Amino acid sequence: MATTLQINPLLIHQLLDQETLHEPGSPTAGKLPGNYVKTVLKNKNTLTPIIEKNNHMLTCKTCGKKGKYDVGMLVVNVDKKTKTDNISDNIQMTGYFRCKHCNSAGNWELPNSILMQSMVSVLPYDNGLAKQSMVGKNLLFDGSWHRYTTDAEDYLLDKLKGNPQDSYVWNRLGNLYHKGNRPDLAVSVFEHSISLDQGQAESHFTIGSMLSQISDLPNAGYHFRQMLLVAEKYKKMPAEDLREMLANGLWLLFMMHDHTNGEVPFAPTADEIQGSGRGEVPVDFAEMELEIFPEDVESFFPLAEMYMGTRAKEIPIRKRTFKLTTSTTSFRKKKKRVKKKKKK
Ligand SMILES: [Zn+2]
Repeated sequence: MATTLQINPLLIHQLLDQETLHEPGSPTAGKLPGNYVKTVLKNKNTLTPIIEKNNHMLTCKTCGKKGKYDVGMLVVNVDKKTKTDNISDNIQMTGYFRCKHCNSAGNWELPNSILMQSMVSVLPYDNGLAKQSMVGKNLLFDGSWHRYTTDAEDYLLDKLKGNPQDSYVWNRLGNLYHKGNRPDLAVSVFEHSISLDQGQAESHFTIGSMLSQISDLPNAGYHFRQMLLVAEKYKKMPAEDLREMLANGLWLLFMMHDHTNGEVPFAPTADEIQGSGRGEVPVDFAEMELEIFPEDVESFFPLAEMYMGTRAKEIPIRKRTFKLTTSTTSFRKKKKRVKKKKKK
């Protein structure tokens, strides 16, 4: 029997806004809507997974068959009391996986290898191995705790059933797939969230970073520039987090701009600005003395704050990097900056 593609039929349903599923059989990736699904799927291996692969043999209790699954990071909730006192009930897994044979989800018999690995997380010493387990809780944006990613998915899909236009919840669902190492599902859902709300800045950012990794630079650039244009109206993130995200997007935009000898525009084009409905964009590169250090994301903070417009005022003054003097538009000289830690 051919293995299934491990997709929740409800997801396809709700993405396509169908009342009932007429076709029998398991859902296929071909039914996932979105412009980028195919290229992302084709280039899946060039995408850096957010969480390292962590394969284990699990047995599906629904059909009894065994299979190898990437369970992702094990997150052990040491606070949670269970009725059965079974530690495995407290282990969350970030990977997105469904039974390869019957497509059911969340009904697993866990192997000892998972229990062993999760116990490593509570050991006080660092054994030098890549950490594949940790103590903590993975909570959804509303504070709810779910054991399997497929449980969290069901929970969000149920929320969306009552409110299918909620682009923020769609974005959260996309994040689950993205972290769960299912970029095909993630990109489809992120695109959907943007089709509902062009102002979904976080979806623009994540699509941009996914596409930049698979070398679709023109489209990656488009999404990063959209992220800049919608930033001021995006209220779902604290201002400093928003600045961080914009700076990261600007940084990648800058690299792509440089790499393509300017073919990928660094700033939103006139058409894009007009299409965004944003009255004026307060960035005039001609008047700016930009000090950009490609190795330092923080050097993009002043630009990020400009795109944030009024939202930049939510950042405490001492933490702001961009200031307008009352008379002229000028940049404050950069202060001593904290050296960024080297990435490993
Ligand atoms: Zn099964």
